[in-house]
Amino acid sequence: MKAALAEGGVEPGVCGPRVRTITACQGEAVCPSGCIDTYALAKELDDRYFARELPHKFKFGVTGCQNNCLKAEENDVGIKGAIKVKWVEDKCIGCGLCAKTCRKGAIKVENKKVIFDESQCNFCGRCYKSCPTDAWEDTHGYIVSFGGLFGNNINKGETIIPFIEDKQKLLDICDAAITFFAENAKPGERFKYTIDRIGRDVFAKKILEASV
Ligand code: SF4
Ligand code: SF4
Ligand code: SF4
Repeated sequence: MKAALAEGGVEPGVCGPRVRTITACQGEAVCPSGCIDTYALAKELDDRYFARELPHKFKFGVTGCQNNCLKAEENDVGIKGAIKVKWVEDKCIGCGLCAKTCRKGAIKVENKKVIFDESQCNFCGRCYKSCPTDAWEDTHGYIVSFGGLFGNNINKGETIIPFIEDKQKLLDICDAAITFFAENAKPGERFKYTIDRIGRDVFAKKILEASV
């Protein structure tokens, strides 16, 4: 069976105290809602971390957008595709479609003029995708959560940096998270409990240092 799967480029996954098989949704290569190429990123994470020995299991999940089909925050490190938008007044015809599309109430259109409340925006990119005149500039990036659990105990992973634009920074942050776990976790301790025990502030400092 393994030999037959290997012919198609499929290798067995892993279990136990190490980085588990990286999981991802289909992402922008297939799904019109996708904000990032989840498959390419999952492959990169797989090449970088797959089966790395650690004090306990460690799961990465990559989901392509705010629809969150892969439930990113259930993972030790959850990565979600995102799009940061900027309104370009010169290109706007005031049709109001972006305001209707936004699920966060971040856009109002009054007298054919867009009023954008960035503080309400969750980087879903729906306004950018819906605009008929390309009047939203798009910057693709990532939202990362840490310390998720979904088993006997359930915990929603927490975000430290609202939006990460650069992929190398994302990888540096993943390196910092996994190093923190390797250096501080007790055997059999999930990431959330390591963060709780050592201190969220201490962990956040490491992540912020890795992001500059
Ligand atoms: S999370 Fe987004 S990109 Fe991924 S499958 Fe769901 S809708 Fe598509
Ligand atoms: S969808 Fe585009 S053109 Fe229409 S109001 Fe929004 S920004 Fe302007
Ligand atoms: S990116 Fe999403 S949440 Fe932000 S303004 Fe556009 S539609 Fe609304």
